[in-house]
Amino acid sequence: DSVFAHVVRAPEDPILGVTVAYNKDPSPVKLNLGVGAYRTEEGKPVVLNVVRQAEQQLVNDRSRVKEYLPIVGLAEFNKLSAKLILGADSPAIQENRVTTVQCLSGTGSLRVGGEFLARHYHQRTIYIPLPTWGNHPKVFTLAGLSVNTYRYYDPTTRGMNFQGLLEDLGSAPSGAIVLLHACAHNPTGVDPTIQQWEQIRQLMRSKGLLPFFDSAYQGFASGSLDADAQSVRMFAADGGECLIAQSYAKNMGLYGERVGALSIMVLDNVGKGKGGGWLKDQFFDSHSHMECCCLVTIKVCKTADVASRVESQLKLVIRPMYSNPPIHGASIVATILKDRNLYDEWTIELKAMADRIISMRQKLFDALHVRGTPGDWSHIVKQIGMFTFTGLNSEQVAFMTREYHVYMTSDGRISMAGLSSRTVPHLADAIYAAVT
Ligand code: PMP
Repeated sequence: DSVFAHVVRAPEDPILGVTVAYNKDPSPVKLNLGVGAYRTEEGKPVVLNVVRQAEQQLVNDRSRVKEYLPIVGLAEFNKLSAKLILGADSPAIQENRVTTVQCLSGTGSLRVGGEFLARHYHQRTIYIPLPTWGNHPKVFTLAGLSVNTYRYYDPTTRGMNFQGLLEDLGSAPSGAIVLLHACAHNPTGVDPTIQQWEQIRQLMRSKGLLPFFDSAYQGFASGSLDADAQSVRMFAADGGECLIAQSYAKNMGLYGERVGALSIMVLDNVGKGKGGGWLKDQFFDSHSHMECCCLVTIKVCKTADVASRVESQLKLVIRPMYSNPPIHGASIVATILKDRNLYDEWTIELKAMADRIISMRQKLFDALHVRGTPGDWSHIVKQIGMFTFTGLNSEQVAFMTREYHVYMTSDGRISMAGLSSRTVPHLADAIYAAVT
């Protein structure tokens, strides 16, 4: 008998398992709206033109080699990524208060950030929205944090439960970490307004809660890279501390290249900024037993660069996990971000993807309306980003899969990016049948 004979079968991943089931279905009308991956009107995956051009440049450059990257990844990519999310004129970048490391897409960035916090931050509790992307609780639990939730979504209005959010963050222990979706909340498609973000910011800063932004959809929600970064920039602008996980899976279509970045923004100097200063204190405490006995060294410690010490610790998280990140995807991103023409072309392609998704919302809404589908479906056009949180329950979803070969997660989330003008009528038929 195998020494592994006792191993029990694990359930399929609730999101990626949808594709496994879809692939097994021989029906010609089957429709995969499970995983969040962009498809064209023809239902095909795309490689962006700018990505093809960048790859061509990389291939033509014979001086490029396949050596290992440093533990923290491609330096140029890291700098450009911080600029992309924080803005080119970010004071934090100019003051060297941001440390950025290249990670394995958004997921890897969240994991590295989580492990760093579990080792070096005084509060090991992270609050995640209810509901949230299904991988969040697993990533942070395995990183060594303890996971709590805050109310976010109101199923009765299919909108935000803002009162619940304020109450739950208001009663969170001081210093707790709070996971925030920078834009295009997954799975609900419900984002705070700018005024609500400002209230969240004030509440969090007044309680010393530490923001950890998950930015998986910059530019993909509204079509504008700046508009989709606004929440993050509001927190960055107050001078306080935060963590940001970025993914290039969706906005550059680099899903399988696994390219992302973790940025940690810190307070460097005593009294600077208004948002906490925990990292300085933390590092001062844990690394300065010797220094405490000697005034001269204390002074050195206080003026030393916190961001670079944070980076040195991030390297200790990364090195035993995967040693260093892959070179190809980060080189593509850096090539695009540093070249004015490629960058401009990217923003156009990105906006086209966002616009197609937004147009699918209207088409689906209209198709349900035409069929006289009972219920209020206006949330389909109101929600933001890749997904619509339909409000369909798990029995209705199971019915749609069984009878109509429509595949989606059991919470009723559908990927609007997987829909096309051709498939909207079939989906509308399936939803109509499920609710009548
Ligand atoms: N966060 C959220 C909210 C997501 O929706 C996703 C992708 N589904 C990710 C993070 C990470 O994805 P990736 O690791 O492919 O960048």
